[in-house]
Amino acid sequence: MKCPRCGTEVQPQKTWQLVAPLPDADGRVTIIVMGSFKCPNCGYSWRQKISTIKVGPEGEVDLNATKKRKRKKKEKEKKPAGKIIEVDLSDIYEDEEL
Ligand SMILES: [Zn+2]
Repeated sequence: MKCPRCGTEVQPQKTWQLVAPLPDADGRVTIIVMGSFKCPNCGYSWRQKISTIKVGPEGEVDLNATKKRKRKKKEKEKKPAGKIIEVDLSDIYEDEEL
């Protein structure tokens, strides 16, 4: 984040998360990542929102890096190496009479 006074690039001294008490229309909970900053150049200190994350039924969605996360998911979706054995349940329960 840049210092609002002198424009120096400042790393957050401390970060924390704020969780919205109510989910949005899609049932996702909004998490706001906050940071406290202190400029080493002019000494100005401030607090600022770093990013907004939405967590919902489909998992975590980082609004700032949605494309990256989608790419990661695709890499993980590899087909299993083992054989898939299909079982017809009617064969198993055929002889069972309740
Ligand atoms: Zn500054």
